[in-house]
Amino acid sequence: MNKIRTRFAPSPTGYLHVGSLRTALFAWLLARQNKGQFILRIEDTDKNREVEGSIEHIIKSLKSLGLNYDEGPDINGPYGPYRQSDRLDIYKEWALKLVQKGRAYAEEYSEEEIENFRIEAKKSKEPFLYRNYRPKELKGYTKGKALRFKSDPKDYSYNDLIYGDLKTSKEAIDDFIILKSDGYPTYNFAHIIDDYLMQITHIIRSSEFLASVPKFLNLYEALDIKAPQFATVPAVLGPDGKKKLSKRDNAKDALDYLKEGYLKEALTSFMATLGWNDGTEQEIFSLNELIEKFSIEKVQRSPANFDEKRLIYINGYFIRNLDLDKLYDLSKEFWPKEASGYDDLYKKKVLGLLKERLKYLSELKDLSIFFFRELEINESLIKDNSKLSVLTNKKIIELLSASKETLSKSNFEVEDIKNRLNDLLIKLDQKPAILFSLIRIATTQSPSSPGLFETLNLLGKKETLKRIDRQIAAF
Ligand code: GLU
Repeated sequence: MNKIRTRFAPSPTGYLHVGSLRTALFAWLLARQNKGQFILRIEDTDKNREVEGSIEHIIKSLKSLGLNYDEGPDINGPYGPYRQSDRLDIYKEWALKLVQKGRAYAEEYSEEEIENFRIEAKKSKEPFLYRNYRPKELKGYTKGKALRFKSDPKDYSYNDLIYGDLKTSKEAIDDFIILKSDGYPTYNFAHIIDDYLMQITHIIRSSEFLASVPKFLNLYEALDIKAPQFATVPAVLGPDGKKKLSKRDNAKDALDYLKEGYLKEALTSFMATLGWNDGTEQEIFSLNELIEKFSIEKVQRSPANFDEKRLIYINGYFIRNLDLDKLYDLSKEFWPKEASGYDDLYKKKVLGLLKERLKYLSELKDLSIFFFRELEINESLIKDNSKLSVLTNKKIIELLSASKETLSKSNFEVEDIKNRLNDLLIKLDQKPAILFSLIRIATTQSPSSPGLFETLNLLGKKETLKRIDRQIAAF
């Protein structure tokens, strides 16, 4: 068998959400696990929908996620160019072949006339089929006119790697435009020529194209081209499970997620498991594991739901399990500005403490700030805490003073802080939820922090005592 060659063929229309990238990931995985090739092709034949900067954005998204391609618009390759707008001559040449065979003809009617046919068909409750209006005399290629494929409707059976064996009926096949009047091809035509010339063996694409496959099959036949293997990937639905995922569903662009400090491994694991699993309970996969275990045939036929909470969970998992030095390298741009005066060792220790709780790296700023700067006294932390709000000011001062007294004797090793504060609990007959919460609030001005003893140890004795003093003085 020929080497497997798959492609990702986005249109540069802007926003690339995780659903579109999932299709790219599946195509990439299929190529990589078979030692084949993965190609990036830009389908920019609809100039009206094009959004500036999209191509760079697509390239950056793929590269940032580690989905490297072997051929593409910026690196070229043996079957280039890889941008459809640079291939217009090729499409024309192939369209002319169809004209010669009597399988394509110049558009005869104006848009208005076609609209009238449509209305007419609707009135007589017939489905509108252009071929019913096909002119008797067909004209060949005419400059300034669109070119239509002359279909030869028939029933087809074909296999889709995900949807299985499918049958389609000839009613689904009609004459359709292959070249527009501006000389640009339609998607329906261009992708067939390109996939053939680029020797694509597997087309992995989203289910919105499934209904068009019968007409593609008819065109392949007319062109004498053997269709590649199809693998149709079901849609990704928004969190409500009803509509297709869109920007409104909070589904950020892949690059936005990376900017927020989601790790690329978490994103690829999340995307791969939108509608795929390896048949076991395993939920989280490294990219290498995916190459090993992914199977296109096991992609589910039912649409997958986009659940951002699952992504957050997966990301937390990758953060917790990443080597501290590696995580520290990735964290560079996420520290609060106050951290710049601190050395790597201190910051690495802070990160080590926060690692267990970080869901994404941009949380680092808020979660770590008290390690670098004393925060304003936040009265609500005591007022809104049901266990603390019932204490009198006198009691709070008494507890904090006793804590200060005890801590001032400590050598500030974690163990020593722990032993002394635990002894103090017993001595004062207090609960951790009261005594330790007060110390935490005094020293961090935050409702939560990493382990208290570790936090105090890192803040250091002087800073800890100073902060407790300040909290006492605030009453
Ligand atoms: N250009 C099409 C799109 O962006 C790609 C479809 C395909 O993969 O063939 O939706």
